[in-house]
Amino acid sequence: MLATRKRTATKKKVVLLVEDEPDIAEVLRMTLEKEGFRMDWCASGEQALERVRQGGVDIVLLDILLPGVDGHEVCRRIRKDVATADIPVIMLTSLTDETDLVVGLDMGADDYISKPFSNKELLARIRAALRRTGRSTVAPRRVIRAGALEIDADRYGVRVAGKSVHLTLAEFRLLYYLARHPGRAFGRAELLPHVVGEGVYVLDRNIDVHIRNIRMKLGEAANYIVTVRGIGYRFEVEAD
Ligand code: CA
Repeated sequence: MLATRKRTATKKKVVLLVEDEPDIAEVLRMTLEKEGFRMDWCASGEQALERVRQGGVDIVLLDILLPGVDGHEVCRRIRKDVATADIPVIMLTSLTDETDLVVGLDMGADDYISKPFSNKELLARIRAALRRTGRSTVAPRRVIRAGALEIDADRYGVRVAGKSVHLTLAEFRLLYYLARHPGRAFGRAELLPHVVGEGVYVLDRNIDVHIRNIRMKLGEAANYIVTVRGIGYRFEVEAD
């Protein structure tokens, strides 16, 4: 019997795909294995939760629309369990509604990628997520606290007086940009480039509409966004 066994220099990273469509799973398996990953596949959320608890999963690719427990809920449970909380999760979404996207990020997903995506893009996102978690020193969370408002840029989370507020991606970017530069007035044209980007559509170019929606959602923190007549807006927390 041949006793020599080939040893790979580095252990293969295990990508857990949670996806109910076998065709997609098949294609992804070929892509991932070609790039030196090992792919495990679960077709349901329940199966996936069981699989991550067993350990050895380096990253989860998670479809949102699944039979039974959906992707958002699977993500939430992965984050809730201390044993699995640190596993990076990338959401695969065919949903075009950015609200769902923000919900996903709010549930603790590290990233999202919209179907149809290219293999190249997916692999880049996987590697980036693995790099982030592989760092020995964890980068400080980018959190802004101002008055009753808390903005967590890493989780796309916004809270007012401790209560979670759901902003769209465009609204989030706008608020975050303003809050990072308190006291400074910005024109609409200046703000626009900080709002548009991936996941934000052409329709989202109206800054005033976003500001109105943000204020509505912020409740008691609404007046932190101050209208500067003839210019645009600035972020300021009034001292009582
Ligand atoms: Ca699906």
